[in-house]
This record gives sequence, structure tokens and C-alpha cells, in this order.
Amino acid sequence: MKIKTWGCRGSIAINNPDSKTYGGNTTCFEVISDCIPKGTKLMIDAGTGFVPAGRHYLEEPVKNLNYVMMFTHYHWDHVLGLTLAPPTFIDHIPMAFYGPKDGDKGLSEMMDHVFQQPYFPVDAKRIRHKVTFSTFTNFDVEVVVVHPEGGFTQLNLDEYRRILNGNKQFLMREKSYNIDECLIITMTTTNHGNSTCISYRFEERTSSKVFVLLTDHEDTAGISMDIKKHLKDVDLAIIDGQYDEFKYQTQTANFGHGTPKGLVKLAIASNIKKVGITHHDPTSTDKYLEEVILKEAQEAFDIFSTDTKFLEVHKVDKLKLKKENIFLCQDYQLYEL
Ligand SMILES: [Zn+2]
Ligand SMILES: [Zn+2]
Repeated sequence: MKIKTWGCRGSIAINNPDSKTYGGNTTCFEVISDCIPKGTKLMIDAGTGFVPAGRHYLEEPVKNLNYVMMFTHYHWDHVLGLTLAPPTFIDHIPMAFYGPKDGDKGLSEMMDHVFQQPYFPVDAKRIRHKVTFSTFTNFDVEVVVVHPEGGFTQLNLDEYRRILNGNKQFLMREKSYNIDECLIITMTTTNHGNSTCISYRFEERTSSKVFVLLTDHEDTAGISMDIKKHLKDVDLAIIDGQYDEFKYQTQTANFGHGTPKGLVKLAIASNIKKVGITHHDPTSTDKYLEEVILKEAQEAFDIFSTDTKFLEVHKVDKLKLKKENIFLCQDYQLYEL
């Protein structure tokens, strides 16, 4: 499994000489796996990074090109790329949207809202025919299963466990498939102010590799059992680390975003192998990201990795995270698990 960063800036897109290295596109990640049907591009969020991502796959013709978009939530920095990414408007490229119900609003309402005058010239009605919606409401028990030939289906957690513990076969559109050939997507909610935001967990059964994107998440004083279970032993987690500790303490607490220290604490408590920092603040220059954000994460590593009490409380026997495996996400980079 590989993860491509098309956008890792938070809040609003930027472009200036001081952000050339890490980039300025807002959130869009692509999950690349042999368990995904050929031609299907699996994206998490459609921030402005979805514009180059969408263009990219039109440049070299891809057979049966279609997009599956998994939305964490519907803040502008996670959806606005839809309006200017070419695939949105190409009739023969189907799109399947997955995302949470937030209050009484889901994917369909998001689309109506984003694509309407006077904010945007094209009305949602023009593109609806090529989009399907799967809105999540029971995040803890909904499981999305992806098979390279069968495509996407949804199970509940009990069904999924029964299949795993049984003969591993399951039915999808009247055909039988083996669960061990699949990519399994589960979810939990993040701590993101008044919005309902999902963190997705991708488990590639063929390789046992696991990836989690946990963005738009504010550190909590304690670590919730749900988040810990969700992150436990993953190979790569990309986590929100928007604010340095001082800025967080003095200005941005309760804004719904994380810190380098918080994410490293989480990574060590859950025994994650590699951790990427994302949702870079629009004011963060390349230099600041390296000299403040990454440095704070490395300092936090020194503290938590040597805190025997902390490791004991979180039952970390053999720490998997290495200091050099804490990195800053960068637009257009590919990370192998
Ligand atoms: Zn955001
Ligand atoms: Zn947000």
C-alpha cells in the first residue's frame, strides 16, 4: 500500500516562496493498493489538492477511470477542490462519495451547498447523475470492504467479524469473494470542535499493512480508548499537527487541531511505526515547519519514548516508532508502508 499526498495544508490553500517544499494545497490524500479495482482512484478528501490529482489521471489515459472520495468532514479546506477538479465535470467518469452525516447534513447537502449560485456557476443538478452517495451514521460499526474484482461494499462490524472468523467468504452482488483479498476501511470520530469528522483506517489484508489518516483532530488530555484502538500498531499514521505548543496554549486551544507533541504522544501510546504530520498552518513556512513543528515532534519523542511509566501505562513493550520516522507531509510525495 502507498499513500500519495496531493494536499497537506490546513485551513486555506497558499502559494508563496516560503512554502515551496511542503506545498500549499489543502487536504487530499490518495490510497494506492492492489486491493482496489484497476481504474478506481481512492481519495480521502477533496481539498485543493484534488485539482492536480484529478488532472493527473487525465494526462495518461486510465481504463475505467472512476473516483471514490472518502470525506472526513465538509469544511471548505476538505471539499473545495471538487469545484475545480476536471473529473467532477466529465460525464463518463463516475464518482462515489462516502462521508459522515454531520447534524442533519450529509454528502448530498454538502454538494448542493458547494455547487450553487452565487458561490459557484455550476449547479449541483448538473453533476448529480454521475455521483453516488454513501453517508455514514454509525461510525463505530460501519465497515467498507474493497475487493480488486468485486469493488466496494459495506458490512457491519458483526458481519465482518463473522466472515473473518468463519470461512472468509462473503457475497457481493451475488458473487462470492475472500475477505483476505480485500482492503478494509473502518472509522472513528475525531475531536474537531462542533463538526463531525471521521478518521479512516485502511487495512490491506493481503499485506497486513495498516494506514490511518487522523486529521482535523485536537489532542485530548487523556487518550480515548476508541482512538487508541483505531491507531493501535498501525504502520503509518498521518496526524494533524497544525500548531506549535506555544501557539496552541496561547491562541488556538479549542480550534479543533493538534500539536506535534500531542501527535507523538498518541503515536507512542498506540505504538505506531511511522508518523507524518499534516494540516500545516497557512502561516507556517518551510523553515518554521522544519525548525519548530518537526523539532517539537522530535523533542516530544525524546520525552515519551524514555518515559517508562508512560510506556507501561500504554502497554508498549517494544517501541516501533523511530525518531527518523517522524516526518512532515509534503505535497506530491509518495509514502510506502
Ligand atoms: Zn481542515
Ligand atoms: Zn475541519
